[in-house]
Amino acid sequence: MRCKVLQQKVLRESHRGIEPSLTFRPTGKMKLTLPAVFLVCIGWCFSLSSSFSVIDTETPVIFKGNKADQFGYRVIQTRSNRAPWLIVSAPLSGNRTGSLFRCSYDTEKCQPLILHHNYTPGISLGFSLAADEVTDSKIVACGPTWERRCGEFDYLNGVCYIMNNFDQNLKVVRPAFQECVSGVDAVILYDDSGSINDAAFQTMQTFFLNLINSVNDLDVQFAVVQYSSDPFLIFDFTTYNNTGGQIKNTLHGAQRIRGNTFTPTAIRFVVEKVFIPERGMRPDSKKLLIVLTDGISNDQRSTFEEAKQAADAKGIIRYAIGVGQNFVEGQDELHKIASSARNIFSVKSFDALHSLQEELKEKIFAIEGTSGASPGSSFQLELSQGGFSTLLTAEHLVTGAVGAYGWSGGLEKGFLAQPPQTKFLNDSTAHSEDSYLGK
Ligand SMILES: [Mg+2]
Repeated sequence: MRCKVLQQKVLRESHRGIEPSLTFRPTGKMKLTLPAVFLVCIGWCFSLSSSFSVIDTETPVIFKGNKADQFGYRVIQTRSNRAPWLIVSAPLSGNRTGSLFRCSYDTEKCQPLILHHNYTPGISLGFSLAADEVTDSKIVACGPTWERRCGEFDYLNGVCYIMNNFDQNLKVVRPAFQECVSGVDAVILYDDSGSINDAAFQTMQTFFLNLINSVNDLDVQFAVVQYSSDPFLIFDFTTYNNTGGQIKNTLHGAQRIRGNTFTPTAIRFVVEKVFIPERGMRPDSKKLLIVLTDGISNDQRSTFEEAKQAADAKGIIRYAIGVGQNFVEGQDELHKIASSARNIFSVKSFDALHSLQEELKEKIFAIEGTSGASPGSSFQLELSQGGFSTLLTAEHLVTGAVGAYGWSGGLEKGFLAQPPQTKFLNDSTAHSEDSYLGK
């Protein structure tokens, strides 16, 4: 937990990341002191002719924009339908959403480059700009200040838009993107077969109630399913939340069926009917299934292989608890249930279940405490600011991600052809922190 707190602190302190302009809020880990950019964008270096290469210092074309929006922060030349254009960014416009303008040498006027697309708000679009110098008509504009909340963290990634001839078919790229995975949605699936007497059944329910209560302070929500020949939902995630986790009476009120032990069918029921948004499952959560059984499955309707495939497809971590004589000699059945050999427990009797309490609780703590795609480690792409810089070729988009891997930074090389593929180049060695590769 100590690691988690420290990480959280760093993330919170630095969540603004590298502030990309001299007038952006300087509350971040580092404020870049870029040279003063134009107060007005001055096209002084381009002539009125169609050639971009002649510098005309006598009769410059001047394009003006809003100073507060940082109009002119980035400027590139491009062509559309053979006409030369100047693309100008204003990354602070629209409450830091940013905007682009296309400016004509002929009319000496700029107009918003309307993309008929809802830009992601707050990304500082146009902080980096690049044109494909071969085709001359394809451009990319990036905004590296895309903040999103993920659980108790604030992530800072970027968004880039690629367009061709100012077309409306924008390609949206999220370079060095970190998926948000937050909180744990846990299903307890326990055996209600006829071999379990009522006293043992009560002991088992108490064990699970204690387990649920022991992780009460964490971002974990539960659902409980009972099974024998058929699975039966006791309560789902929504009910758990609506009752504030007070599910003792609901659990103890469950009717016993005392049928066969059809474990794969029950697992598939959980995967297909409980781990779904309609039952209160959160799309971005980590998924955990705890299965308790006292016997060997004699399922006629489904196989463990089918159950495993279904659970793996949803990324469900599975724990197996075997109770009784069936699991003293062999644990083959538990291996079929669990997603890893480390996730197997067995006890000789229901009375001994309490001995697992602490270890299971610690496991849930560990799962809940990991952040996103980098469990147990310091942050990687959570604050990457992909698109801080950018380069475009006919085949590739290269973007700088200064905040990646503890601000050692990195570059993402994206292949524009289908299927999209990316490679991330980083140099995150012990000495590279704060080296800002990709700036
Ligand atoms: Mg049984």
